Amino acid sequence: MSSLSANEVILDLQPSVCPHDCPSACSLEVERIDENTIGRIHGAKGNSYTQGVICAKVARYAERAHHPDRLTTPLKRAGAKGGGEFVPIGWDQALDEVARQLDCVAARHGPEGVWPYYYAGTMGQLQRDGINRLRHVMGYSGQEKTICTAPAYAGWSAGTGACWGADPREMCNSDLIVIWGCNAAATQVNVMTLVAQARKRRSARLIVVDPDLTPTAQKADLHLQPLPGTDGALACAVMHQLFRKGYADRDYLARYTDNSQELESHLATRTPSWAEGISGVPAAKIEAFAELYGQTRRSFIRLGLGFSRSRNGASNVHAVSCLPAVTGAWQVQGGGALLGSSALFNLDKRLIEGLDAQRTGIRMLDMSRIGAILCGSADDLCGGPEVGALLIQNTNPMAVAPDLNSVRRGFAREDLFVCVHEQFMTETAQMADIVLPATCFLEHADLYQSYGQVHLQVARPVIAPPGECRSNHRVICDLAARLGADHPGFAMSEEEIIDATLRSSGYPDLEAMAGARWHDCSKSFDEMNFLTGFNWPDGRFRFAPDWNSLGRLGGAMPRLPDHWNVIDGASREFPFRMITPPARTFLNTSFSETPGSLEKERKPRVRMHPQDALPLGIEHGSRVAVGSRSGEVMLEASLFAGLARGVIAVEGVWPGTAFDNGQGINTLISADPIAPAGGAGFHDTAVWVKPAATSGPCG
Ligand code: SF4
Repeated sequence: MSSLSANEVILDLQPSVCPHDCPSACSLEVERIDENTIGRIHGAKGNSYTQGVICAKVARYAERAHHPDRLTTPLKRAGAKGGGEFVPIGWDQALDEVARQLDCVAARHGPEGVWPYYYAGTMGQLQRDGINRLRHVMGYSGQEKTICTAPAYAGWSAGTGACWGADPREMCNSDLIVIWGCNAAATQVNVMTLVAQARKRRSARLIVVDPDLTPTAQKADLHLQPLPGTDGALACAVMHQLFRKGYADRDYLARYTDNSQELESHLATRTPSWAEGISGVPAAKIEAFAELYGQTRRSFIRLGLGFSRSRNGASNVHAVSCLPAVTGAWQVQGGGALLGSSALFNLDKRLIEGLDAQRTGIRMLDMSRIGAILCGSADDLCGGPEVGALLIQNTNPMAVAPDLNSVRRGFAREDLFVCVHEQFMTETAQMADIVLPATCFLEHADLYQSYGQVHLQVARPVIAPPGECRSNHRVICDLAARLGADHPGFAMSEEEIIDATLRSSGYPDLEAMAGARWHDCSKSFDEMNFLTGFNWPDGRFRFAPDWNSLGRLGGAMPRLPDHWNVIDGASREFPFRMITPPARTFLNTSFSETPGSLEKERKPRVRMHPQDALPLGIEHGSRVAVGSRSGEVMLEASLFAGLARGVIAVEGVWPGTAFDNGQGINTLISADPIAPAGGAGFHDTAVWVKPAATSGPCG
């Protein structure tokens, strides 16, 4: 594909797909300068979701792909664990050593002593999930993938029974868009494109629910700022008003929902004043929200993940998902709600994940509890052997996991073997015995679904890998050969396994998919909007979910939507509530190494309201300490009147070295599991804030 640039140079534009952990999975066009080098990256204009728009950090991806700090050769630890001393070794030597160590641990503890650990550093189905093929064939410990979406999807599916919702492209047909718990301008740029289109076409209004006056909230007609963890109270009060003011669609309720009369009675006491006392949102604003929402048929709620990361997060997501079931907004174009779209794709993952080799009875370790697991907690080890070896791809738990003090203690164990396959020398890679250099998405093939839109896509390599980098797929296959793991997927190339997966899933094959660029997997409007019934045997939305069926911790959850007061509430000792939202130009810890992102983000800061800072003697730019029950970090204060009083915000997952005391922000975060199915409360921490012992501006 070619076109002329402004200066008449013929650009070689290669198709690709953004692999990062972002709901958009943008279709890309990559300027290829030569077989080793890219230029700018653009959004593919022809894609009906991306519409040619991508975020700035990926547009300048060349600075990440060609970063001088990319790992390019296998490394072996030469000094003390975590000391940062490594020597280059050959691939055969590295893989032989990893295989030998995994075999030793399996012989000592049984195969469950080995824990392949991964997450969403790439969202590509093959390069992300192929590690499970090795896990399943070898009988290694399983992983409960709780760290990101588990609470949100539990809450959403509790009512709908599904992991999909209204087609996000429907937003441009809406008269009212509610963005709840998401700074879309930073984390879902395409949502803001659709908001702008709805505003232009239909004069749509925008409501944003977020404790912070984010760039998204700054564009809102109405901004509600609930205290973190009180979204359930807010949603209940809105529903109270919907019933009281006659905005409930009783025909829809009778036809499509369970227990609506019980819900209405239950909500009788959940008034706006009641919710104001819990959430801090003035009752008048709650009433204004309910009026706008109740009067607007074409109302679309885009639920974010942010407000799910609280001990009551799943309960809160469910409460918000009840709103369109009360008004029947699902019935009209531009109406309904969406949390995510993951269940639209129905890929046959047997080859990629080796699902046909999966054994019964293998323990499942909760990835959010990695600190407790590595420190030997018997409960977290499910009564099984200690973890003696970690094989890590696509994640950086030494920075992103909660309860970092435990994580650090666990990784420091002398008897723990750690292999990390990575693009950069992350904090986790620094704790490794063997570090393997990984390709980035421009250097390997993969298959991409999305959790925020409807297209299935494939991508082929655009450039050659730097140095000796190898793809995740290749490394897993190379290890399988050494470990004697037998599965057809280990003998297939990347393109072969993608092609076979597409065919067995009923999709066009790789060539056809690559030619078409993307395949629209949306269902009919009636199915997307549950007009053929919600995804339960009786087809009814559940106001009273069966939480027990959704996870082992479901038994304590409230029967009906409510404020479930299990959060880490503010107290005399810990008077503030902390949220840790994404930084605009980072994506988890990815991009925290690129010059463009570092120039924008500069350093970790804690934002707080000036009136909260004043009595503490904290000024803009001064150095402060922030502490929770789990630990303490030191960083710079930034005063911002747009935050709800009593709330502080620390954006981005910076490396610990960016903080004055060398401790990353997740040092403060508890690993208490979120009901019903686990997850970490990244926005549910009570903290104190005080001027740091050494005063003066941060350097
Ligand atoms: S990070 Fe998100 S918005 Fe940016 S290019 Fe990737 S998918 Fe698109």
